[in-house]
Amino acid sequence: MDFAFNEEQQFLHDTLHDFVAKEVKPQARHVDETGEFPWDIIQKLGAMGMLGLNIPEAYGGAGADELSVAIFLEELGRGCGSTGLISEAHLCLAAAAINLFGSEAQKQRYLTPLARGKVLGALGLTEPGTGSDLQGIRTTARRDGDEWIINGSKMWMTNGGVAGTAVLLCRTKAERSSHSLSQFIVPTDTPGFQAGPPEKKMGLHGCWSHAVSLDDVRVPLDHLLGAEGKGLQQTLAVLDGGRIGIGALSVGLGQAALEEAIGYARQRETFGRPIAEHQAIQFKLADMATKVHIARQALYYAAWRKEQGLPFSKEGAMAKLFATEMAEEVAYQAIQIHGGYGYSHEYPVERIYRDARLMTIGEGTSEVQRMVIARRIIKGR
Ligand SMILES: Cc1cc2nc3c(=O)[nH]c(=O)nc-3n(C[C@H](O)[C@H](O)[C@H](O)COP(=O)(O)OP(=O)(O)OC[C@H]3O[C@@H](n4cnc5c(N)ncnc54)[C@H](O)[C@@H]3O)c2cc1C
Repeated sequence: MDFAFNEEQQFLHDTLHDFVAKEVKPQARHVDETGEFPWDIIQKLGAMGMLGLNIPEAYGGAGADELSVAIFLEELGRGCGSTGLISEAHLCLAAAAINLFGSEAQKQRYLTPLARGKVLGALGLTEPGTGSDLQGIRTTARRDGDEWIINGSKMWMTNGGVAGTAVLLCRTKAERSSHSLSQFIVPTDTPGFQAGPPEKKMGLHGCWSHAVSLDDVRVPLDHLLGAEGKGLQQTLAVLDGGRIGIGALSVGLGQAALEEAIGYARQRETFGRPIAEHQAIQFKLADMATKVHIARQALYYAAWRKEQGLPFSKEGAMAKLFATEMAEEVAYQAIQIHGGYGYSHEYPVERIYRDARLMTIGEGTSEVQRMVIARRIIKGR
């Protein structure tokens, strides 16, 4: 199997590599320290067509393949975790949900502005009382004449306070079953949709996560996304793709930590020579580089399977599990190689470590990935 980039992928990679070096990486520390939302970069990414990268051209996207999405998020992750997660949640969660399950009219109305980067998207699954266990969702959507009325609350919604379009998972049947949930497209300016202030978090400070209250939010019947009662299955399909996005972001974070560690090890001297000449440091760097490489290959393989239309749920979960745990471990070792300076805000590795920590939690924890993988290898599905 050959994952060598074709001409278009190589061009995309080089363009992004350059853009991230010039525009994204230099702002990453400021974004982390101030918690400012990087609007200027997001607008530029929209103008470059990145926020609709794998959305069909008919709906304002660039019509690129799945490997291109991995390239995009990996490069962003190399520069700034916050910018990466904003883009990932927009493209791989909100836009992907409408692209996969939207009607023609919904795609024209809601997907096109998302793909053109005119509007940001958010996906609301998690609630104060439930995250991994999606069947525990309490937010309800009830039919009333020609409208749905949504009531409840969501938690941790990435882009929830800055998005124009949200996709929400709601309960449409009281009983706990796999057919009790449905997805809805909700414009965030609908009366009753209220996002709280950005949550204070360990890292990813420029990527805003919001609690959202939903009080008698009324949307027309045609804002049901996909089929009524199929919300759980639709969400799991979206999350399968999202795992490739989070995995790619993690490969970028791991690569960034590795590059910082190599650079530091070359110039820091102890006992009369650069620490890069001590075998203990060399072995750490070799292990880090190997893990980044393996994660990248696993991720490209999952993206390739998705592109071919092959089942990729297990491979995506494996790639997400390995890449996210790798990013944290590589960032940890990068701090170790920096010694005391690794613990300082002066060097990027502590920011990368804090940003990477989320990746084993969001869009399915490592435990959930292991459940997905185990189910498939034991029961063969
Ligand atoms: C920065 C950030 C951004 C986020 N963005 C979004 C977003 O855009 N949209 C959204 O909907 N959500 C978002 N989330 C929420 C995230 O997806 C959830 O936090 C995650 O799915 C875990 O859910 P939880 O926090 O409720 O933990 P829980 O589900 O309560 O789990 C707690 C612990 O128990 C473990 N666990 C749970 N069930 C099992 C089991 N059966 N076996 C073994 N272990 C188990 C979990 O792995 C975890 O370690 C975000 C979270 C953060 C922190």
